[in-house]
Amino acid sequence: MRYEGDIYRPPGEWKSYLLQCTVGCSHNTCTFCTMYKAKRYHVRPLADVLEDIQMAAGTWYRNTETVFLCDGDAIDLPVDYLLAVLDALYKSFPHLRRVTTYAGPLSTLRKSPEELRIIRQAGLQRAYLGVETGDDALLRHVKKGVGAEGMLRAGQSLVEAGFDLWTIVITGLEGAGRDALERNAALTAKMINEMRPKHLSSMTLMAIEGTPLYEEVQRGELKLQTPFESLLEVRQLVSQIQLEDLHYTSNHASNYLPIKGTLTRDRDAILAQLDQVLQSGDPALLRDDAYRSL
Ligand code: SF4
Repeated sequence: MRYEGDIYRPPGEWKSYLLQCTVGCSHNTCTFCTMYKAKRYHVRPLADVLEDIQMAAGTWYRNTETVFLCDGDAIDLPVDYLLAVLDALYKSFPHLRRVTTYAGPLSTLRKSPEELRIIRQAGLQRAYLGVETGDDALLRHVKKGVGAEGMLRAGQSLVEAGFDLWTIVITGLEGAGRDALERNAALTAKMINEMRPKHLSSMTLMAIEGTPLYEEVQRGELKLQTPFESLLEVRQLVSQIQLEDLHYTSNHASNYLPIKGTLTRDRDAILAQLDQVLQSGDPALLRDDAYRSL
């Protein structure tokens, strides 16, 4: 297993064999993101990746059931490349049942519906899409590469191609205060309701030194939410999701309170849990800032 630089994966992929196909993120301009800033985006030679697969198949990884394609948006890879990787993975790992990847909105939109269907049918089952927010102006402000219409189209095209779409949003991006959090929650819930993913994770904004967003906070242009404002935004978001059977989780280390459930079935229980913590006002019930991370 050979890796270049730091490797990131979604929390749910902790058991997966991590196969690095690209180095970095093809977009790499989001103002809040530090993950791939130290890397110059490039595609690893296919021969090296196929060799990695053979190396892994010769170890205990042979029994792996899930593979996550790194780095930032392996969906950007050419279709032939992806097909060769998927073919080698399914031939080399007899128990393999799922291959997943991050998907950026632009890298997804660069694929035609037919290309997305082909790679989905070849065994790339799940895509993790950083939706971040449903606010058009905010998406542009954080340099996501698309506005709300483009983000919605990217997500819908993955759903239409049959992907098990896992969306990720960030609470607090709009800043502190009741108006801001209500606006972000309403626009994000609207986007998710229209996109119809199977999974939704929410993360809580963290301003990381070295990012443009951190500089905005330093200049006083963006005010970070208090932990309880953050929970209130999660409450507003959850209460406006209208999808049946949406798997929701806030188990990411950036969040103050881990929550999970199926919306809308478990909505009342989730809201009751949030209300209990909100009404208590007790910071001891929340993850300490010292233990939050991205
Ligand atoms: S698309 Fe994702 S990985 Fe790339 S810069 Fe934006 S948030 Fe970071």
